[in-house]
Amino acid sequence: MSRYGECACCGRLGELTGRGLVRPCHRRFREAGVLDEWPTEWELVEEDVAMVLATGASHRVTAVRCGTTPRQVLRILARWRLRVVDGDGPVPEVQGPVRAVRGEAA
Ligand SMILES: [Zn+2]
Repeated sequence: MSRYGECACCGRLGELTGRGLVRPCHRRFREAGVLDEWPTEWELVEEDVAMVLATGASHRVTAVRCGTTPRQVLRILARWRLRVVDGDGPVPEVQGPVRAVRGEAA
């Protein structure tokens, strides 16, 4: 999945190759062997989804605003619920998302 945006490293606008980085930055960090220090595309999408859901948007609206699919948003929500059950680390605000999903089922 390629998207356009601001490079996480230098702030230049362009096509983001991966991990929120434009091609020159992505290559520089890969060659230096420290690409792992930048979040993956999935982690970036998850971060965006958390922010949009926190505004009370439904999972469908969230998907459109984050450039992903409603199914991916539901997957992210499922993962967060697992974290709640497992008590594994910080959990994003889930009030909005849970309400949105229940609304969907009703
Ligand atoms: Zn950069």
